[in-house]
Amino acid sequence: MLSVVPTPIGNLGDITLRALDTLKAADLVICEDTRRTGNLLRHFEISKPLISLHEHSSEARMLEIIKRLSEGARIALVSDAGMPLISDPGFELMAEARRRGLPFEVLPGAQAAVTALAASGLATDAFVFLGFPPQKTAARRKEFERTAGYEETLIFYESPFRLVQTLTGMLEVWGDREAAVARELTKKFEEIARGPLSSLIAKFEKKKALGEIVLVVSGAGRKKLFTEEPDGH
Ligand code: SAM
Repeated sequence: MLSVVPTPIGNLGDITLRALDTLKAADLVICEDTRRTGNLLRHFEISKPLISLHEHSSEARMLEIIKRLSEGARIALVSDAGMPLISDPGFELMAEARRRGLPFEVLPGAQAAVTALAASGLATDAFVFLGFPPQKTAARRKEFERTAGYEETLIFYESPFRLVQTLTGMLEVWGDREAAVARELTKKFEEIARGPLSSLIAKFEKKKALGEIVLVVSGAGRKKLFTEEPDGH
């Protein structure tokens, strides 16, 4: 059985009982960074053989894991944080397991995009998750032009170093839409800043954002929800 096991995005209390049971029962844990996952497992007093699998791993590594699965091993797949496969490795492994008819299960759990959406104060009835925007200015602009007509709430991951640049790119292409910057979710310095793009740019130009960030932006044609000044907690 291949079990996809989400892990906390900050607060270790967000691991589920089922995730712990699955990790305890596993013969092998596949992860991105063996040191990081080793620390997490140690915290929960679990000791397991770890194998890393990331975007630079060879196909041979994946086939070795598939071989163990077909021999009946219980394999847990985790990533550094949150749900594996979501802007994280694991898709090829799952696709191969599915193609070969090997058993798999996906456990629900901590996930940054959906947590940020729920905290954003923006419409939750329909949304589109777009991962990390392209880093190059021209490609990023093209992506914002491509998605300009989307009426669903848009969710992006972004590095704190590119936050202001990305917000500015959005403002240029989409106009001054409502948005939320969800920073360090579930951690000590959690902050959710909400307001029009222009006010968020002003806020984060004044004080540089640190840590991990999810950016949530209103879709095209959504009615205004916030005042002009950013709020936050
Ligand atoms: N698989 C993960 C998930 O399910 O949420 C996402 C992995 S992706 C490589 C890492 C990105 O997720 C970060 O750069 C940030 O955009 C977002 N992220 C992860 N943890 C976060 C947190 N605690 N607060 C805000 N954003 C977070």
